[in-house]
This record gives sequence, C-alpha cells and structure tokens, in this order.
Amino acid sequence: MNHRAIRAGVSCPYRCRKEGNGLENFDILVIGAGPGGYSLSIAAAKKGLKTAIFEKEHIGGTCLNIGCIPTKYLVDKANTMEKVRALVSREIFSEAGRFSFKKIQQGKAGVTEKLVGGVKYLLKSAGVHVIEGEAVLSKANVVMCGGKEYCGKHIVIATGSVPMILPIPGKEYCIDSTGVLNLTKLPKKMVVIGGGVIGLEIASAFASFGTEITIIEMMPELLPKEQPEAVRILIRELQKQGIVLLTGTKILRVENQGDGLTAVCEKDGKEKCIDADQVLMAAGRRTNLTGIDCDALGIRLDTKRCIEVDEHQRTSLKGVYAIGDVAGGYQLAHAAYAEAETALSDILGEGRTHKEIPVPACIYTIPCLASVGLTAQAAKAAGYEPVIGTFSYDANGMALAEGASGAVFVIMDKTTQKTLGITIIGENSSEMIAFCSDCVMNRTTADQWEALIVAHPSLCEMVREAALAAFGKSVHKN
Ligand SMILES: Cc1cc2nc3c(=O)[nH]c(=O)nc-3n(C[C@H](O)[C@H](O)[C@H](O)COP(=O)(O)OP(=O)(O)OC[C@H]3O[C@@H](n4cnc5c(N)ncnc54)[C@H](O)[C@@H]3O)c2cc1C
Repeated sequence: MNHRAIRAGVSCPYRCRKEGNGLENFDILVIGAGPGGYSLSIAAAKKGLKTAIFEKEHIGGTCLNIGCIPTKYLVDKANTMEKVRALVSREIFSEAGRFSFKKIQQGKAGVTEKLVGGVKYLLKSAGVHVIEGEAVLSKANVVMCGGKEYCGKHIVIATGSVPMILPIPGKEYCIDSTGVLNLTKLPKKMVVIGGGVIGLEIASAFASFGTEITIIEMMPELLPKEQPEAVRILIRELQKQGIVLLTGTKILRVENQGDGLTAVCEKDGKEKCIDADQVLMAAGRRTNLTGIDCDALGIRLDTKRCIEVDEHQRTSLKGVYAIGDVAGGYQLAHAAYAEAETALSDILGEGRTHKEIPVPACIYTIPCLASVGLTAQAAKAAGYEPVIGTFSYDANGMALAEGASGAVFVIMDKTTQKTLGITIIGENSSEMIAFCSDCVMNRTTADQWEALIVAHPSLCEMVREAALAAFGKSVHKN
C-alpha cells in the first residue's frame, strides 16, 4: 500500500505510542458497524489500510438486525397473504388457510443471522480489527473502548440513529419499531403514532396479518414529499386494508387501562380515544451520538442535530468523517453505503462524491411506493417545466397476469425532454426503481426512451410507456 496516496490525516494531538506499548495505531478507526461503517471498513481493509471497527451492540447495525431486513421479512409474508386472499376471492385457491404469527416472528431471525454472519465473515477475511464495546471519541484521532486507547489517522463516525420518543404522558407504555419486531402475540388492535415510512410499513403488514390499525399523523397529509397522485393511490389501498388514517391529528397521551391501552388524540380541538393492545411510536428517528461529544470535540451539528458534513463527508473537525444516518440527509441504508464510498474515496485522495447522484427511496407498504429524482412539484420549484407521463398497471399484460395494480408517473422536462423523476406505486416497484435510477441519473431523453427496447411482457414496459405518454407517444395509451 502506498501510504502517500492516503489523504493526509491529522497528526496526533499527542505522540501515539508504538504498538505493544499500550496504544494501537490505525489508518482508519470506524465507530459503528451498520451499513455505513461495515462497508467502509471492508473496502478500506481491502485497499490495504489498517482498519478497526467498534460496535457496541450488533454487527450489521439497525439495517440487518432491527430495520430493513426483519421488517421486509414481515412485509413479504404479508404480501404473500394478500396474494393468497386474492386467489381465494377468484376461487383459484379454495381457502387461505391459517398462519402462525409466532413462526413469522421466528423466521426473520434466521435471515438476520445469515446476513450478520456474512458481514462478520467479510470483515474477518478483509482483515478488519473488530472491537466489541462502546467507543468514545476522546480526541480528534483517539478512540477509547474497553479501557484501551486506539489512535487513527482518520476517524469515521457511523453511529446511526435511534427511534425518537415523543415526550407525551404514557410514552412508557408504547413500543418502538424494535418492540414490534419482538412481539410474540399478534395484537388485535394497534395504534401507530406517525404516518411516516416506518409507521406505514408496519401498519400495512400488520393490517394484512389481521390487526385493526389506526394511524395518527400530525401533518395534514401523508408523505408530502412524494408524487401526490401516487400517495392518493396508496391511501386508497391502505384504507382497503381496513387501516384508519387520522391526519391532522395530534397524540396527547397514552393511558394504561390495565387490560389494554387508550391513545388519546386531538383534532380541531376535539379529543378522541382509541383503544388498543399496543401503541407503536413511529414518530421518526434521531441521530445516535453515543460516545461522540460534538460540542467538546468541535464537531458542528445542523439544526436537526445531525453531524454537518461537506460533499466528501468531512466534518468540521479535521480528519474526522461522518456517514450514514448520523450525518442526516437520506436516512437510508443505500445512502449510507454511498456515503461510505465517498468518505473512503476522500481518504484515498480520489475525491469521488455521490452528492449529485439521485437516491431512490422505497416505502414497502402493500403496495410498495418507490421513487427517484424529482416530483412534478419539486421540478417546478427547481425551475423546470414538468410534464407528467402516466401509465396504469391495468393496461400492462404482466401486471394483469400477476393480478397487480398501481401506476407509474414519469416526470419529464418540457423544454429539454429529459427525465427528471419517476414514481411507481404498485407491486415490484422496489425492483423496477433500480432501472429508473439509471434513467434519472443519465437524464434519459424522450428520443432515448423511444429507442429503448424493454422485454415483453414485463412491468418495466410501463415505465417506458409512461415516459412516452409525457409527449403523447405511448402506443398502448389513448
Ligand atoms: C424499522 C426500520 C426499517 C427500515 N427499513 C429500511 C429500508 O427498507 N431501506 C433502507 O434503506 N433503510 C431502512 N431503514 C433505515 C436503515 O436501517 C438506516 O438508514 C441504516 O441502518 C443506517 O445505517 P448506518 O450505518 O448509518 O447506522 P446503523 O445501521 O444505525 O448502525 C449504527 C451502529 O453503530 C453502533 N454504535 C452507535 N454508537 C456507538 C458507539 N459509541 N460505539 C460503538 N458502536 C456504536 C450501533 O450499535 C449500530 O449498530 C429502516 C430503519 C428502521 C428502524
């Protein structure tokens, strides 16, 4: 390894003693082994950098253990149930059968274990030093953990985020997303505080399992940053699942009745009580700054108490980077991976940055809502003249064969005829959005959409048709 290629780090504020003399020296010290931290560590070690990673709870972080993966296990089972029910209603299946919630809850542990085992193996085989315990960043390049001090040329903070708990009376009776994943009994009734991504995903899955769900959302509308037509379809589908949606409603308190809970909320000055066996607090997430005393260290935070970073993920403290949820922006696992690559690229002196690359986002409700790039509203605000091309799942052969419904919205710029954004509400949208990301990133033009050949029959045909429809060129649409 040519160490001159590594971006100059900070020289130790005090002389780091030699290895074997109490203090170990590393090229990179990473705090937190979620998607951001573990991916950076593996990539750095593969480049020949001496790397250590500290983890206080579970390798794989929120994503693998209590976030993306276990929730998707639940969503997948819920989706399957909805499909079976649809087949029963068409008399293709004679009955839907019974299911075991306990087995579903147990099943996700196997998937998590497999993935965590894979990450541990990758860390080990890359030669990353994995140090278990809570790390404290005590100086610009010194980390303390388990009574030992470690010195690093570069420090990467990847400590993630934790659920936000609203300071309401009775908050101690609520469960968070981790609590939901640990339930052993399916609740008959559940109140979900917060109609954001996590609340909606869990609400949708549990509604399929048969739980009566009420969502309490303080904002007047759901998902205000998504394409409104797609959100309207999603709301309609959630209501079909039996979910009661109370928007513009504020949670006041949660009361323990002994044999159950009552969520007391308020809309337009009127109080409303909703009984439930469980109340899920899904009111957002806050950055996890455990072990990082930003004020004392001189690391600047933004107004949301996320670590402020530049386009290379550098913090205001020289030699210290922040990536993933702790650095704000998109609090998504794939954003953490991208930020890890950006930070490592800067450390290696390559200077690659992901800031201009559109980040896809998926809401794994039933059906899933996936989007990338600008909505029509955002495009207008950015000075474009947006044209919306749409295409319905009802006019696509594969969607009809699969019994899937939904719609595709492609936002094009009227003047340049370039693609600005794509939103898909419907089955498999989380898979289709990868190809859409490429089209938004490369600003695919109307002519290029016309030249593109998409396999038939496939759901992706709808994306091309929607793009062509923006300029009245879709053959399969009037
Ligand atoms: C229920 C749920 C569902 C989600 N679903 C999705 C999804 O479908 N798709 C998606 O993209 N994102 C999803 N997310 C978000 C995703 O999990 C996060 O964006 C992602 O995990 C962030 O990665 P990270 O590396 O920044 O931090 P994290 O994954 O949070 O990892 C941080 C790690 O740092 C450790 N740590 C913190 N402080 C210290 C310390 N001082 N010393 C040692 N270790 C420390 C923590 O224990 C933790 O393991 C979901 C989140 C939740 C809660």
